Amino acid sequence: MRPAAGADPDAPLISIRGLSKSYETKSGRFPALRNINLDVLPGNFIAVVGKSGSGKSTLVNVMTGIDTPSAGEIIAGGTKVHLLSEEKLAVWRGRSVGVVFQFFQLLPTLTIIENVMLPMDFCNAFPARERRERGLALLRKLGIADQADKLPAYLSGGQQQRAAIARALANDPPILVADEPTGNLDSKTSDEVMALFAELSVEGKAVVMVTHERDRTRWFTRVIELSDGAMVNDQKAGAHA
Ligand code: ADP
Ligand code: MG
Repeated sequence: MRPAAGADPDAPLISIRGLSKSYETKSGRFPALRNINLDVLPGNFIAVVGKSGSGKSTLVNVMTGIDTPSAGEIIAGGTKVHLLSEEKLAVWRGRSVGVVFQFFQLLPTLTIIENVMLPMDFCNAFPARERRERGLALLRKLGIADQADKLPAYLSGGQQQRAAIARALANDPPILVADEPTGNLDSKTSDEVMALFAELSVEGKAVVMVTHERDRTRWFTRVIELSDGAMVNDQKAGAHA
């Protein structure tokens, strides 16, 4: 889980430079992100906060290659992500970032273990005969190995989010990005999920999380705030102290 031996711990996993994103709408171009600059380092646990509509989802979607920037650069380990073809982008994303969503987005017709194995199958990241055992090890780490052969609908929200985190970790990506991952969970389960992400960042992953829960900033190493698509606040927070 730690960065590879010899890797520079201060080298950004993702560098965002002069990033802007506008959407074409009926009433013209709508600027959703304006000139964002951000370096994401190993071990960072970064909260992205801001009012609804401030551009948080747009930022994480562009950062993970789910959406394309209108201007600026996203550089990850020497790769200019903004210049990749659709096909190369899918491979980069599959290996380099684990994404977690508010509504889990597990495939309903696949069992939990099959959901977790999917990214490994897609990216051919581990030998086929090792994938199931690796998936089970991740489910054990997240405390839901006993749910492996069930369909997602039979799990609680918290268990489904744990499964989604296991899926995000399938290819051992250095970066995890989560868009309001606790937005659909009760407060106890949401604390457990926050603790999991915090633990992953202590292990050396970089975690970028959209959240509107300001009182949770104690979990984070850094809190950035967006307003009308611009970064208006960038604070070091208390975690890992
Ligand atoms: P947040 O996640 O902070 O609530 P979003 O990134 O979803 O904000 O949206 C930022 C702004 O961009 C909002 O005003 C939203 O309405 C607008 N927006 C988001 N997606 C689109 C789209 N596909 N087309 C046009 N406008 C969009
Ligand atoms: Mg959003």
